[in-house]
Formats: sequence, structure tokens, C-alpha cells
Amino acid sequence: AKQSGNGSSHFNDAMARDLHHRQRMTERLLAALKGDGLQLCYQPQFDLTTGELVGAEALCRWHDAEWGWVSPGEFIPLAEERGLIRPLGDWVLQEACRQLVAWRHSGLRLPGRLSINISAQQFDDPQLAGHIAGLIEDTEISSIALEITESDFMRDPEQAVDITRALRQAGFALSIDDFGTGYSSLAYLRRFAADALKIDISFVRDMLTSHHDRAIVDTIIAMARALGLRTVAEGVETREQAAALAELGCDQAQGYYFGRPVSGVAFFEQWGATVGR
Ligand code: C2E
Ligand code: CA
Ligand code: CA
Ligand code: CA
Repeated sequence: AKQSGNGSSHFNDAMARDLHHRQRMTERLLAALKGDGLQLCYQPQFDLTTGELVGAEALCRWHDAEWGWVSPGEFIPLAEERGLIRPLGDWVLQEACRQLVAWRHSGLRLPGRLSINISAQQFDDPQLAGHIAGLIEDTEISSIALEITESDFMRDPEQAVDITRALRQAGFALSIDDFGTGYSSLAYLRRFAADALKIDISFVRDMLTSHHDRAIVDTIIAMARALGLRTVAEGVETREQAAALAELGCDQAQGYYFGRPVSGVAFFEQWGATVGR
């Protein structure tokens, strides 16, 4: 790097390196997507009253030969930025359905639904319901729930109202993900045809130490009830958090306390015996 004295060439070098790295990462993500470099993990979800398994969330994983495990917090935004999220999202849907069928053949019928994360660009498609229905072929739509973040709903709320209605009409369940971080208006919350709210991990994490966060969780649950929405807490790591959530009337939960995201095979081994086969 040349020393220009004002630091700007260092800055430009760093920018160029970053851009180069992102370009390489994009190419390798595409190769992983075309090959078999991506996987899904499944995290169980439980009823907080009965303790029963009530579903699972599919979470995408990428293992690169050189970089090891790359976090979805890194590659999902990259896929969004580089126009790969639609093919990636299609792959996730098809792979999740393949897993549901594979479990069924081994004797596990997942109770409830399998939840799948949908990103903003996938959601920004008036034909989404038909598109997904076409992708998942023989899988019953009633076994799938879609998760869309609160902030993605609010990018174009009027369109979101229409799309959510079409999805529900087609038979998909719909959760508002990361709830509490996206500034929805109450008026829209009522109009989105969602059936569950996922309480964001940040509130769950601090609800035992912060009165403020506990009050937010309490309010979200009360509001969800008033609107007829189920509540699902994410990121539950301790028995105390689970107990506090149950006491506040939260319906369901997932998190390391109950079970980590694991491969489809491990999920079957861990949870297959707990449900009727
Ligand atoms: P998310 O949808 O909010 O998923 C929950 C995240 O919390 C997951 O991180 C999960 O592994 C993690 N988690 C679960 N239980 C606990 C816990 O008890 N404690 C803590 N600290 N974390 C917990 P992950 O798998 O790294 O995914 C991060 C985000 O990447 C997801 O957040 C989602 O927004 C996105 N993502 C993952 N898979 C997909 C996908 O297939 N499609 C799309 N569009 N986005 C995905
Ligand atoms: Ca999610
Ligand atoms: Ca979240
Ligand atoms: Ca998220």
C-alpha cells in the first residue's frame, strides 16, 4: 500500500480487499448451492404448557472447505445483496420438503409444522403462494409454516397484507419473525394474515434481568392474545426463562435449553421416539 499520508489509500485498499473477499464468497456460495455444499438444520419447538414437540424450524448451514462453517448471519445477507437469495430460498424449501418426506418414510410424522425462513426479496413477489406451492410438489401445504421478519412485512405493508392473505388462503401458516424489533403499527398487525408472533431473542435474553424487557415480552404476549395470534419465544437458553415465559402466557418456545438446531438424521434420533410414529 502506498503511504499517502492521509490514510485514504489504506481505506481504499481495505475496501478493495473486502470487495474481493465478498466476490469470492459469492462465487463459492453459488458453487455450494449448485453442488451439495448447503445443508439444513432443524431446531425443535415446544409447547410451553405441555412440553410437547409442536414443530421445528429449518435453518440453513454452509460449510466451506477453506473457511469452515460460515454463519447464515453472513451468507444470507450476501445472497440477498448478490441476487442469490431466490435460488437459495427455493433450495431451502425443496430440501425441507425432502426431509419431511424422508422422516415420514422412517416413521416420524413431524407434529405441527416445519417453519421455513423467507427473506424480503422472496416475499416481494405477488405470486409467492403459487411459486412455493409449485416447488414443494407432493408435500402438504398444511405441514409448512413460513417465517417473515417484522421489518420485511413493513417495507411495503399494503403489499404484505395482500401476499399474506394469499399465502394463508393457500393453506400456509405464517409467523412474524424477530417480533419487537420492526416497529409494526397495530393497525397492520391486525391486517397481516399471520397466525403467530415470534418474540425476538433479544427480549428473551434479558427478560430476567431487565424489567423493561420483561414488560415488553409481557406486552407482546398480551397484544398477540388480543389479536388471536400464537406466541413463540426464540432463543430460550435456561429453565428460568422458559418458566417466566410460561407464566406470562407464551404458547411455544425454542432455544438451546430445549434443543439445538441439528441435522435431519440427528433430529430423527433425538426426537423421533418422543412422538407417535
Ligand atoms: P432467525 O430466523 O431469527 O433464527 C434464529 C437464530 O437463533 C438461528 O441462528 C438459531 O440457530 C439461533 N438460536 C436458536 N436457539 C438459540 C439460543 O437458545 N440462543 C442463541 N443465542 N441463539 C439461538 P442461525 O441459524 O445462525 O440463523 C441466523 C439467521 O439467519 C436466522 O435468524 C435467519 O434470519 C437467517 N436464516 C437462517 N436460515 C435461513 C434460511 O434458510 N433462509 C433465510 N432467508 N434466512 C435464514
Ligand atoms: Ca426464523
Ligand atoms: Ca430472530
Ligand atoms: Ca431473522
